Formats: sequence, C-alpha cells, structure tokens
Amino acid sequence: MVNPANLDEVVGWVGEATEEQVVSATAAAEAAGPDWQAHTPAARGRLLCEAADRIEADAHGLALLHTREHGKLLGESRRNVSTAVRVLRYFAGAGDLIRWEWDESTAGVTTRYIRQPVGVTAVIVPWNSPLTLGFLMLAPALMAGNPVVVKPSTFAPLALARALEILAGTLPSGIVNLVTGSGARVGMALARAARIRRIAFTGSTETGRELMRIAAARITNLSLELGGNDPAIVLEDMPITDELCSELAAGVFTATGQICLNVKRIYVHRSRYPDLVDGLVAQAAALVVGSGLEPDVTMGPLNNRGQWERVDALIRDAAQRGATVHRPGRLSDWATGHRGHFMLPAVVSEIEAEAPLVLEEQFGPAIPIIPFDTWDQVRVWANGTEYGLCSSIWTPDVDRAFRLAREIEAGTTFVNVHRPGASDVDQAFGGVKQSGMGRGHGIWALEEATELHTVIHRPAT
Ligand code: NAD
Repeated sequence: MVNPANLDEVVGWVGEATEEQVVSATAAAEAAGPDWQAHTPAARGRLLCEAADRIEADAHGLALLHTREHGKLLGESRRNVSTAVRVLRYFAGAGDLIRWEWDESTAGVTTRYIRQPVGVTAVIVPWNSPLTLGFLMLAPALMAGNPVVVKPSTFAPLALARALEILAGTLPSGIVNLVTGSGARVGMALARAARIRRIAFTGSTETGRELMRIAAARITNLSLELGGNDPAIVLEDMPITDELCSELAAGVFTATGQICLNVKRIYVHRSRYPDLVDGLVAQAAALVVGSGLEPDVTMGPLNNRGQWERVDALIRDAAQRGATVHRPGRLSDWATGHRGHFMLPAVVSEIEAEAPLVLEEQFGPAIPIIPFDTWDQVRVWANGTEYGLCSSIWTPDVDRAFRLAREIEAGTTFVNVHRPGASDVDQAFGGVKQSGMGRGHGIWALEEATELHTVIHRPAT
C-alpha cells in the first residue's frame, strides 16, 4: 500500500488470503453463530456499544492511517471514523426499532412470527469509504445476530482492518472475521463459499453483476449498493447564488468526487446556465489540491492510478468532442514537489448530453454542466443512464420539486442539498435500476439481515 499523496511512501502491506483461509474464516463464523444468535438483541447491543467506545478511543490514529492509505483529507477521514462509530451505536440501540417476535391470531389459528438472522454474511467493501460503508453493512448484520466475514478492497484496507480488530476483540470469538486480498480471487472465493448465506456488497455495478451470477448457484441472499451517476437539476426559478454554488461544489468535489452519491452531472435551465458555469468555476478556483495532511489543502489526490487515468481519459475525450474544459484551482507546495495521484478540478461546459463524461460514472473531480430547455427534456436526460442511485432538484418551489421527483428514477432525491452525509443512517438508502437492490440504513437494513420464520399453531381440540 502506497500513500496516494506520496508514491514513495509505503504505508503498509496486506496479505492475499488463500482459498483455505477464506473457507476456514467462514467455518469459524458458522461455528460462532448459534451462541451469537442466542444473545438477546440488548446483549448484542451492549457489546456493539463497547466496541464503538473502543474504536472512538483510537479515532485519531485510525483517521491518520486512513488518510495515508487513501488520500482523503484528514477531516474527511475523521468524519468517516466518527460515522462508523455512530453507525455502530445506532444499530446497537436499534433493538427496539424492530419486532423480533410477535403473535397474530385469525380464525382459530395463532401465527408466531420469529425474525431470525439469515446466517454467515460476507461483507464486501469498496475502497472509496471503507469505514463508513463497511460499518453500514456489518453493524445491522451483527445486531440481527449474524456472524460476518469482511473483505476490504486492496486499495484501502488498513484502517478498516484496524477497526475490525478492535470490534472482533470486543465480541465473542468468531463473530467478526477478516480476509484480505483481491476481488478476483479472495472476494470470489468468499462469495462462493458454501457457508455464506448472504452477501452484503457495496461497490461497482460490474462487480454487482458478477456477484448476482455467483449468488444464483445457491440462491444466496444479496444486498447490492452499486454505482451511481447522480444528476443535479437546477430549475429556472432557482437564483444562482454563492450559497447554491458552494452547496453544489461540495456535492461534486467532496472526497475528490469519489463518493457514490456525489453530484456527477448538472443540468441547469438555459436561462441560468452562464451564471451557474461561472459560479462553479469560481468555487473550484478556491480548491487547493494536495496531501490530505496539509492543513490548507481542500482536495486530496485520487486514490489510485487506475482511477486517475479513467477520470483523465473522460476529460480528454470531452475536450476532443469540443467541450470547454475549465481547470481552476491550484496544487499545494507539497503536491508540486511530490509524486501523487493529484488532479486539478475540471468544470466542463458546452458538452454534448451524450458524451461519456455525462453518461458514465467518472468518480472523480470532473463535472459536466448541460443546459436544458424543458422539463420533459431534463427528465429524459436524468433518467437516460443505467444508474438510479440519487438525484437532486434545486428550486425554491418545493411542491414543484416533489412533482419532478416522482418522475426521476432514483432511490433518493434531495431538494436543495446533495452531498455526502445528506442521507443519514436512519433514512432508507439504496438504488434503483443498476444502482442496486435492497435498502440499507435504519430498520430496512435490519430487515435485510433477517428472515421471517412463520410458525402457525392450531390449538389441539
Ligand atoms: P469494485 O466493485 O471494484 O470493488 C468492490 C469490492 O469488491 C472490493 O473489495 C473488491 O476487491 C471486490 N471485488 C471485485 N471483484 C470481485 C468479484 N468478482 N467477486 C467478489 N468481490 C469482488 O468497486 P470499487 O472500485 O472498490 O468502488 C467504487 C464503486 O463503488 C463505484 O462504482 C461507486 O459508485 C460504488 N459505490 C456505491 C455505493 C452505494 O452505496 N451505492 C457506495 C460507495 C461506492
């Protein structure tokens, strides 16, 4: 693992698990499962709370390690650690949010519904926000009584592994297991392992498709949080103010654009187009790109070379198609003197609506802005990709926003906000179309981590 802000610094090493090690991790989880299931939800919650306290006590070290392995700003890493802790506490206290066992009677029959854990759960984590996303998948699984085997991404495994070590050390042995290594070998071996009853996955749509194929063999339960290409739609009645541009810029550039629900394309009514392009360029001009450990830096590097090349190729392609590419912002002193995956922000105007930078998920600090004339036109464009994760509508008229939201294919639509953190742990989250299957967060995540067992009882006569 090298530091994306300093390619000469090795941050750590991770091993490649063998298939036998993957299988033995699932065996340890299966063996530990019945005892964990026998704990009451309150008892499980107490242990999860204890783990949250211990992880919080290591917050500074975890955030530092995460910034060095990932490239994020230290403040972003701190927020990721505190979100992981908050998610763990939220689910630890969620035992009362859901009914675990209840009776219903009809026509002389009593039905007892028993909510039971699905079983050993594979938690497969992407590189972009491993602490937040890893805990959003594993905390409800654990609270619902499932043992887990976690596989982080090879691009940012270290801070998650350290947090999991603390968690595993707090819970009974075998409940939290970790396997590291590539997706193609270790991830696949885990998904295919016979003892896995559910796969909780966050990552790309392409890998999601592969996991569906693997899950088909045993009809393994599957929860998929996949890629997104979120549109932000600015209607003609929305004044273009500094405040609006600053919110939109936060939605685009936070975490260097590497968040599933970052704003990935902006459609603005033609009457507001020049002002919005100028406003976004002005916001991007204030960005300082460099190491996440430098106090004055406001945007870190991209996480890895492949991601840098992908975003760069999309920007070059847009330029070749005749788009205007603005490259405001500046490199920090550190970035000019060190090798890293640094990239200045790109605000791309005069771009055709069908350009790859518009239709594909760029996952980086490049934003295409497209003018629209009518509601019908923008609705067709907004819905015109395979994705359907989030979207946002910007207007002072909230009723109009609700009307348009019904016509947008997305799991979440924000109004006058659209950035990481805008969807909290208790609000349902997930994609439609090829952005995913199922809903995470809140009680929905607990429901996905459980099966309802229906026991029908007819009294003896
Ligand atoms: P990825 O699909 O390449 O990898 C995700 C994880 O899957 C990694 O741990 C990887 O090693 C593993 N993996 C890869 N191939 C595998 C296979 N064949 N079998 C089993 N495991 C395999 O995704 P990424 O590049 O790490 O993450 C970025 C993507 O994740 C983006 O598309 C982003 O939008 C998406 N994402 C979605 C959400 C959401 O909530 N919807 C959140 C964050 C990221």
